[in-house]
Amino acid sequence: MAENRLAIGIDLGTTYSCVGVWRNGRVEIVANDQGNRTTPSWVAFTDGEKLIGEGASNQVASNPSNTVFDVKRLIGRSFSDASVKSDAKYWPFKLIQGHDERPLISVSYLGEKKEFSPEEISAMVLVKMKETAEVFLGPGTTITNAVVTVPAYFNNNQRKATKDAAAIAGLNIMRIINEPTAAALTFSEGRKWSRSEERTVLVYDLGGGTLDVSLVVVKKGVLHVRATAGDTHLGGEDFTNNMVDHFVDEFKIQNKKDISGDTRAVRRLRNACERAKRMLSSDARTVVDVDALFEGIDFHSTINRALFEQLNKDLFLRCMEPVETCLGDAKIDKKKVSDVVLVGGSTRIPRVHRLVQDFFNGKEPSKSVNADEAVAHGATIQAAILMGDKKRDVKVHVIDVMPLSQGVSVKGDVMSVVVPRNTTIPTTKEQIYVTTYDNQPEMCIEVYEGERAMTTDNSLRGKFTLSGLTLAPKGVTKVNVRFQIDEDGILHVSAEDKKAARKKNITIMDDPRRFSKDEIKRMVQEAQRYKAVDEEHKKNVQARNEIDNLLYTMRNTTEKLQHSASGLQDLVDGTKEWLQNNELNSDELDAKKQLLEAIIGQTSTK
Ligand code: ADP
Ligand code: MG
Repeated sequence: MAENRLAIGIDLGTTYSCVGVWRNGRVEIVANDQGNRTTPSWVAFTDGEKLIGEGASNQVASNPSNTVFDVKRLIGRSFSDASVKSDAKYWPFKLIQGHDERPLISVSYLGEKKEFSPEEISAMVLVKMKETAEVFLGPGTTITNAVVTVPAYFNNNQRKATKDAAAIAGLNIMRIINEPTAAALTFSEGRKWSRSEERTVLVYDLGGGTLDVSLVVVKKGVLHVRATAGDTHLGGEDFTNNMVDHFVDEFKIQNKKDISGDTRAVRRLRNACERAKRMLSSDARTVVDVDALFEGIDFHSTINRALFEQLNKDLFLRCMEPVETCLGDAKIDKKKVSDVVLVGGSTRIPRVHRLVQDFFNGKEPSKSVNADEAVAHGATIQAAILMGDKKRDVKVHVIDVMPLSQGVSVKGDVMSVVVPRNTTIPTTKEQIYVTTYDNQPEMCIEVYEGERAMTTDNSLRGKFTLSGLTLAPKGVTKVNVRFQIDEDGILHVSAEDKKAARKKNITIMDDPRRFSKDEIKRMVQEAQRYKAVDEEHKKNVQARNEIDNLLYTMRNTTEKLQHSASGLQDLVDGTKEWLQNNELNSDELDAKKQLLEAIIGQTSTK
């Protein structure tokens, strides 16, 4: 198979990731080595290896401080972000502040203290998804091209950081697409609408960490996103966190003991809460049981739906806000919405389902897409579109929008919007700014993102100075500021004094938290080095297992041969001791394995 014709679609989720490949004109969602079609976005570090996916999440209770998850909540954010602070409370892994406010995750790996950026951890998950697809496509397959999804409401930094993660994973991102848009692609593919029928689709995606809402009009093979809105910090993890807080309090009342400082206990309680939360999506009441939770004390309690809803009532109140904003921005009445599509694990919560259904006057949401796979499925369709499947043309065209307004700070910290939110992308917009005093020699351009009137309430995305302006009375010299937004929703800004023909181009790269090309190169090399370590570890474990099996066979033989086999028995004992007491590489183990095999061969032919 020609390698460069392959492309995969990856949904890199807060809690679960999912990968699809395009084969024989259709999408196939790929199961991982455990047979699961979604993989926990978890990475764990031990003295011997790195684990990704189920391997990582399954061992969290015994290795909490080196088990990392939820990094999508960190990506593109700074250490001092209020949301980072509040999330960190629930994380058993250690977060530290790197230079330029970068959050770093500190773990012990291969017996050493090591720090990883959220981008590097995400890269590890991406590599796992890529390898899952490669195994599925057969030996020798190498994939380098991918479409990766992000929440529609992700800002510039979060998108750029996701691109960095892919670069570290050695993936070429063909396109970043918005998660609800991907789900809309899946939905419209499934419906096979006649070319002229127009459908107005509202996608509601509530996952582990984010809520995204998009309004998409589908007609004649064109998927036109009219507006998007969301909450980058609202999802299933938050519902679970509130349950954890509640039961920590309950334990305190029952036992006069505070477990909140004990990461292992909190983690075990959290696992029980996660299970209970899911049970409450089908049952009215469930138990939360953890044996020997803290200082040997068992914990036993129950929770019903009413209590769950009460604990999370503030979060449920926020669940419909983006829907209102989205419809308002698109200027579309909710009665006009023909299909409501629910995506993301948290839409299984009956309360969420009901809120959406009530909002649309009782309209039953569509059941035609798989809530866990729709995003990866759509990403794969997008990959096929970009690859251009010659045999089976994928005749869909996607038009997406910018989720947040982009602008420049002008006198008095006022936000002068250059690209309003929900502008169709790609786009280029220009605005002219004039000097504010006589003979002004330079102008500082500060680029902000957000919806508030004052830039102090929005987020600074970068700044640069255009110097050498034409000297003139105030208001005469004009500076043309150009905002260019690419198909990935990433902004590039340049400014120009047309008269002086002086131009300063910037990609908003001077966000100091962004990685330079050299840093990415270093991380790619480091990832490769660790990959070699992990592979050696795997081989080592396998070789040791094989030797154990051989020793077992030999022991059986010695038992059968009884007295004539004392030499063999010594060899078995000696090898066991040798295995136990030595750090051995896989070559040494292989050599021993061959020797044992030869001896077994001789013994059995005697
Ligand atoms: P993401 O894309 O953010 O990783 P997913 O769409 O995979 O998220 O959804 C994961 C979230 O859905 C988790 O917080 C999980 O607890 C929640 N979830 C999954 N199944 C259920 C269920 N049956 N009831 C309630 N919540 C669920
Ligand atoms: Mg998701």
